[in-house]
Amino acid sequence: MTVQIYPQLEISETLAAGPGPGNTDARVLAAFSRAGMADHMQGDVLRGMIECKHMLRRLWGTQNTHTFAVAGTGWSGLDTMFAAVMPGDTVVAFVNGTFSGIDAQTLHIKAATAQEHEANPLNPQAASVVVIDVPHGTSVTGEMVEAALAEHKPKWAFMAHWETGSGRINDLRGFSDACERHGAMGLIDAVSSLGVEEFAIDDFPGVAGWASCPQKGLCCLPLTYAPVSFTDTYIDALKTRGAYSYVHNPIFEARHWGIVDGQDVEKGTYHRTHSAYAVSAFHESLRLALQEGLAKRARLYRTHEAVLREALTAMGCKVTSNMTSLVVLNLPPALAGREMELVQNCRAQGFGIWPTLSAPVQVRIGILNLLDRGVITKIVRLFAEAMRDLGAEVDQGNIDALLDSRYGTCVAA
Ligand SMILES: *Cc1c(COP(=O)(O)O)cnc(C)c1O
Repeated sequence: MTVQIYPQLEISETLAAGPGPGNTDARVLAAFSRAGMADHMQGDVLRGMIECKHMLRRLWGTQNTHTFAVAGTGWSGLDTMFAAVMPGDTVVAFVNGTFSGIDAQTLHIKAATAQEHEANPLNPQAASVVVIDVPHGTSVTGEMVEAALAEHKPKWAFMAHWETGSGRINDLRGFSDACERHGAMGLIDAVSSLGVEEFAIDDFPGVAGWASCPQKGLCCLPLTYAPVSFTDTYIDALKTRGAYSYVHNPIFEARHWGIVDGQDVEKGTYHRTHSAYAVSAFHESLRLALQEGLAKRARLYRTHEAVLREALTAMGCKVTSNMTSLVVLNLPPALAGREMELVQNCRAQGFGIWPTLSAPVQVRIGILNLLDRGVITKIVRLFAEAMRDLGAEVDQGNIDALLDSRYGTCVAA
């Protein structure tokens, strides 16, 4: 039996109009392919990592020394953030969609005792973890967090800032304040919000750990670097209690970014192999975000999301999300139940929209790095076409007129 050598793999171009990965910026792709062959202790690579660390602190509005990035995707950063949660630790986790659901599963895995792992190895149920289920399509409010933390007084509290599964923004201010009031160390999944929303870590002192990803708001490539940031309180907890990880221990990971013994040092020291091309791409994505500015980006997302939402609503869809980078919707009643079919038809044509990944089935259309009139118009036209293909009546003239009027009056895109 021989295995054939396949033809060279070709991957076709798509319009990435989903919750993520977003459209990697052309500048980032150029930086990725331009990087020279260099090892992980070469001078430019080490300098690039230090510069990334400083740019990331500025972008994320924080003085946290332990602000750096973890090789991989969002879950790599999140796993690093959850590293300090030890078996038996008390946790309250708020779940309002697919991603915070997986975060809560991770917290169960970290907090479970050996007996709890044995009882259910792939999905341990740690008695010390309380999950507050918030209905899909609604947000976690400050009142919910206050009530749960007052009742349970946990060591750790967890919430997603922006829950990409249902497209909902959760109350970060209320979460941070409640953590401070009740002495919980807050942990935030900021995978979807970094680079899209204007916010500063240091305005939320109740949050001890933050984790994001490369390929959503930052317009970088997956498997480059997932940003993380930790307060000294978090690092102290880690220092005194340890973690069951070498790779994803924030103290070890930080060393390669020139953070040793809680101090910035001139040069990183070996933790694991890093890649010149990943560092180069990440560096460019941070330069891009800082040059454009978060305020401007956040404004552009608000503007274009509002237009897209209005056009979809005019087609008879019902939007249930409030994120500015993603629209989550129900199809009109006549097409209800055909969401998967519609999404698959679109994807087969290179129009990369998504369904929800957990019940109920809804359609998700994202606009990461797609912030101009031309591409939003294209998304609206493609979606209207897909609805018509399933038998819906969508008057393109009306929709075009709506786009013209919105872009004519409110946006200079
Ligand atoms: C995308 C996403 C994740 C997972 O990130 P990966 O990059 O796929 O590992 C986790 N949490 C939220 C809120 C997300 O949007």
